[in-house]
Amino acid sequence: MNVLFYSVPIMDFAGGRLVPAGQDFPPNCPSLSTYLLAAVLRDAGHRVSVIDLVAVGSISLDLDDADLNGAGLIAISATSLNWPAVLDVIGQIRAADVTAPVVVGGVHPTMFSDYILSDFQTIDYVVRNEGEVALTDLCARLEEGEDVSSVPNLSWRTSDGRVVHNSVAPVLDVDRLAALPLPAYDLMPPGIYPSLPIQSSRGCPFSCSFCSTSHRRSYRGVAPEDFVDRLEAVLALGRNRVMEPDLIQIIDDEWSINRKRSTAILRELDRRGLEVQMTYDSRANDFLLDDEYIELVAPHTAGVLVGAECGYDDGLRRIGKGTTTERLRDCAALLHRYDIAHCAEFSFILGLPWESKEDALETVRFAFSLASNFGVTILLQWYWQLPGSHLWDASYARGIVAPAMYNEFGFFRNLYLFSTGNRLEVDEVWEVMDVIDTLTSVLVLRGHDRTAIRARPPAPIEINFPRAAGIPPESSSLQLVRRSQRELDRAGN
Ligand code: SF4
Repeated sequence: MNVLFYSVPIMDFAGGRLVPAGQDFPPNCPSLSTYLLAAVLRDAGHRVSVIDLVAVGSISLDLDDADLNGAGLIAISATSLNWPAVLDVIGQIRAADVTAPVVVGGVHPTMFSDYILSDFQTIDYVVRNEGEVALTDLCARLEEGEDVSSVPNLSWRTSDGRVVHNSVAPVLDVDRLAALPLPAYDLMPPGIYPSLPIQSSRGCPFSCSFCSTSHRRSYRGVAPEDFVDRLEAVLALGRNRVMEPDLIQIIDDEWSINRKRSTAILRELDRRGLEVQMTYDSRANDFLLDDEYIELVAPHTAGVLVGAECGYDDGLRRIGKGTTTERLRDCAALLHRYDIAHCAEFSFILGLPWESKEDALETVRFAFSLASNFGVTILLQWYWQLPGSHLWDASYARGIVAPAMYNEFGFFRNLYLFSTGNRLEVDEVWEVMDVIDTLTSVLVLRGHDRTAIRARPPAPIEINFPRAAGIPPESSSLQLVRRSQRELDRAGN
């Protein structure tokens, strides 16, 4: 069977034009799930092609494309963020009278399979959870003209329009994960992406309240030697295809959650003399357990994202990540001591559903104290109601959010979605932003790089309630300096 995969970017309107947005502008990371599933189907004997719209930077399809018109199945992976673009792509396909069945998978379709198949007749199948077995089985059934009622993880419609959800197969164990083929990066357009992604584990043993990642509480880490074998092969695939061939993006949810395994991987890298640079996500706690891990990981670290989330302990407890502000501070100090603070980003969330303005300010002050004292970059993001988390489920149970809210471009500019996710008044949001601006100015005056502070006002507030233009009349340089000093004192400097 001819199977066509589309890799679809996050898109939004800017200046009246639909353009790539978020992490897909500029193209940063090819879709691992797309290229991996393409490889799985190729191994199963199918002819696969990939149209990488992330690399192209547009979702305007070439409707004369031979792969599109010759496809027996069209497969697209989706998150909530690229979902409007996925719907647009499918709309173009159907408007061009291409009748090949369309299957969608990924975190967003997994959550809303019933809604999607009920409301979008343009979509034929949804694969829920992992796709390797389901997609292979689906292709085999379609090729033989058999019915799909026993394809695991598949949701589909009967001829009378009823939506059926087949049972879910057990997730792939570590041996099957290790035995998966290399992603079909040979089908990727060369010279676009900086580096290639790889997974050393799937899932996460935790289940933080705000987190929408798939496979929470189902962690599976590939054995160190198997992973390093794979890493070497992926690095070889990247030569002549990516701009930084010695850089690899580990896209595990939390790559060091089994620190013994991560340490063994790093030992194996060094034993083989691999001078690979890595970007990865880590919990603060994982750095603190012993010195060996940080000693081994520091020389390989090109970038580490530490999900810090909150700057006060009650918030961290509510999030459920099992860390404290003391550990976050110790982690930043350790990264500084090992000279990798400059490539560490601590991400925080502002305006969590339970937070008052003072709570948000506590997080801001704590974050700035880490930037000021240890030189880490801080990312201050406003809480956004993204499907899949416990917090979203609670909002859904209260009837204030619904799957249809994520169908339109720019849903993250939606004032309703923003304001139902937090308790802050508009002027309180601007007060928090004022403190961020003030502390940023002071850090810059002290010689810090402005790009080490990453914070923006929430788009719905910026659009609907713009900050009053000009400098307030009561402000003066002296007042600004005094205010800055007060804020720094409160931040513990
Ligand atoms: S935030 Fe990190 S530790 Fe928490 S559930 Fe998500 S991936 Fe796991």
